[in-house]
Amino acid sequence: MTDDKKTLTTGFGMPVDNDLNSVTAGPKGPILMQDIHLLDKLSHFDRERIPERVVHAKGAGAHGYFEVTHDVTKYTRARFLSEVGKKTEVFARFSTVGGEKGSADSERDPRGFALKFYTEEGNYDMVGNNTPVFFIRDTLKFPDFIHTQKRNPATNLKDADMFWDFLSLTPESIHQVTILFSDRGTPSSFRNMNGYSSHTYMWYSKKGEYYWVQLHFKTEQGIRNFSGPEAEQMRGIDPDVATRDLYEAIAKGDFPSWRLEVQIMTPEQAKDYRFDPFDITKVWPHGDFPPMDVGRLVLNRNPENYFAEVEQAAFSPGNFVPGIGPSPDKMLQGRLFSYHDTHRHRLGSNYHLLPINAPKACAMNSYQRDGHMRFDNNGGGGPNYWPNSFGGPDPNPEVAPPPIDVAGMAARHAYTLGDVDFVQPGDLYRKVMTDVDREHLVNNIVSHLKNAQKRIQLRQTALFYKADADYGRRVGNGLGLDMEQVERLAAMSQEERVAATRK
Ligand code: NDP
Repeated sequence: MTDDKKTLTTGFGMPVDNDLNSVTAGPKGPILMQDIHLLDKLSHFDRERIPERVVHAKGAGAHGYFEVTHDVTKYTRARFLSEVGKKTEVFARFSTVGGEKGSADSERDPRGFALKFYTEEGNYDMVGNNTPVFFIRDTLKFPDFIHTQKRNPATNLKDADMFWDFLSLTPESIHQVTILFSDRGTPSSFRNMNGYSSHTYMWYSKKGEYYWVQLHFKTEQGIRNFSGPEAEQMRGIDPDVATRDLYEAIAKGDFPSWRLEVQIMTPEQAKDYRFDPFDITKVWPHGDFPPMDVGRLVLNRNPENYFAEVEQAAFSPGNFVPGIGPSPDKMLQGRLFSYHDTHRHRLGSNYHLLPINAPKACAMNSYQRDGHMRFDNNGGGGPNYWPNSFGGPDPNPEVAPPPIDVAGMAARHAYTLGDVDFVQPGDLYRKVMTDVDREHLVNNIVSHLKNAQKRIQLRQTALFYKADADYGRRVGNGLGLDMEQVERLAAMSQEERVAATRK
């Protein structure tokens, strides 16, 4: 045997003499309990599956780097952004949202756009989507929303009634629904889409000045989408089309890249802005907050092992570094809790020690101890409490974020925004989309919404009409609805509309 030819062993390292025949009592069996290798092999196989992610289950990932191209030190003290030319190692994972782990890549769905920056001040995660907005703005609605995008509890089928019932009862979803049903809802690959922080975040400088920011990763491959019929066909031709595309492009040296732009709003601008800048159902118009260049993301290395690097990768919008922090965005606030929580369920309490999740460019010096699968030295003999006088790590007050002024009555405050939710989807339809975009949007909606009950079609079409009369009319005509009825519903308040379309 040559040096590089390894001997097969059990999981505990004992050399295995034979991997073809179980140990049996005589040539015809039965198998003996003492076949330790067989028991080891079967029992590990029985436990190969870990819980699937509740959302973003189907994904692909790659390694790469981020390079700073413009000076942003006025706005943030984050060290990985401190110098033009500075490079930081990154791991990226792209995904669909609602489908199971084996679902098709070309489904109509937002795409996850998650980045882990291995910085010298800890891991910073940017956990965004390929859409700049979201369906809901309060995290309390998230479990309900996701239930409606998954399967009917009785039939275990995707259900157009559930899907559109919830959306039509949640008018703030109209902006994201308009983007989702445009061809941007079916990107032709992960390389051909943008990534957005969607949320507003805080950047703060060394001087203690802070800014609200939104991040945009703009694809350098150009936006390319499947039309509705192309996406549907692709689900049969190659359900893994985006996973394959990413892997094959990187394998042949065609490295995908994105330019990072940031929109910046001062706290003073935020106070008087014409809508809530922390409402994730809105974008900040480029005219008001022009995007500024920051840097460039390049993906140049495929994972060697999918499970170790992609399936076990765990991102959290709560993974910040000094210089970056949260905003009051109510969707973000819930995600700050939920991501770590779901990873602890999916991967275990020490998931942060897994090689793909552990800091690479700095030490991890916490007082967290024990828990399932603690596979480092668990803090050795050092102190496991703070404060201590035995040389354990101390907090560093110099990295504290600036104080933020918050006040108000503790209550379940409703948004009272009037019709402001319809302004931006209307602008998107009228000003940004081309004739072809509008035609595809209407066709994509009609081919899906036609499967819902008539009263739900009417309620939802009234929302499209409120965003833009032409938009509502074309969807209504495509569905064969009575347009006078749609217009009457559109003129009502949401409460009246719901009452008028009750079962
Ligand atoms: P701009 O004309 O400055 O920007 C329009 C933006 O829309 C561009 O970023 C473009 O992205 C994007 N876009 C083009 N087609 C679509 C589509 N089918 N679905 C989603 N986005 C698309 O306008 P404003 O900033 O004033 O915003 C107008 C509307 O554009 C908004 O109401 C919003 O719906 C949409 N939008 C705005 C963004 C923002 O951050 N301001 C970001 C994305 C969308 P690209 O350059 O990559 O083609």
